[in-house]
Amino acid sequence: MSSVNESANQVVRLDNVSKTYFLGDNEPYRVLKKVNLTVHINDFLAIIGPSGSGKSTMMHLMGLLDVPSQGRIWFKNQEANKMSDSQLAKLRNKEIGFVFQQFFLLNYLSALDNVALPLVYAGVPLAERRLRAAKLLNLVGLGHHLHHHPNQLSGGQQQRVAVARALINRPALVLADEPTGNLDSVSGQKVLSLFTDLHQKGQTIVLVTHDLQVAKIAEKKVYIKDGQIIKREMG
Ligand code: ADP
Ligand code: MG
Repeated sequence: MSSVNESANQVVRLDNVSKTYFLGDNEPYRVLKKVNLTVHINDFLAIIGPSGSGKSTMMHLMGLLDVPSQGRIWFKNQEANKMSDSQLAKLRNKEIGFVFQQFFLLNYLSALDNVALPLVYAGVPLAERRLRAAKLLNLVGLGHHLHHHPNQLSGGQQQRVAVARALINRPALVLADEPTGNLDSVSGQKVLSLFTDLHQKGQTIVLVTHDLQVAKIAEKKVYIKDGQIIKREMG
């Protein structure tokens, strides 16, 4: 059990978390098995494992996009299992920034409006939305591309727009799932050094990857295999 001081420092905690899928008449399929993992404020943690090991499942659970079959999840010391769907959605929008391998930008919006979009749902006025989005696009090196649409940008630039969007609500946690998986190594490096900068500025980051080379930039590492943590390097 952790002390009060220890838990004040926690962003998200998986407590004995399992995830099982029931597919038709097949045997239940246990994707995660009794995982215990705590992410602390200002951690830069990599979750490393081969394809199919359960990394994305774990990330979806940490990001409150999915619920465990067993065990409990705590986000900033609030128990996720006890929250309603709308409370979870609010918490997710405000406190968690997601970056996915496929960018998921909207092609009919400019880079600026893609980045500002989460602020619409947060009820922030237009002028402030644009100002904050422009600042973040500057931060990721795209200050000269505010009005470009995603299809006018390279993959690496699109992913940097996605990183800016993930940061717009000043989230407690950034979750990145194979963020360089669709990028050439040069643009991949740019995205990774962006994460390093953000971490140095205090951002808490969890990076999911199958690539040890990519995982190197993180300060803490957990290795997963067949749904279980098999090794921890906690910095
Ligand atoms: P990783 O991200 O490490 O590649 P995933 O967490 O995506 O692994 O998936 C782990 C295993 O769980 C895979 O075998 C995958 O096919 C299975 N899986 C993932 N999501 C589902 C789902 N919604 N229904 C059934 N099986 C799933
Ligand atoms: Mg995955």
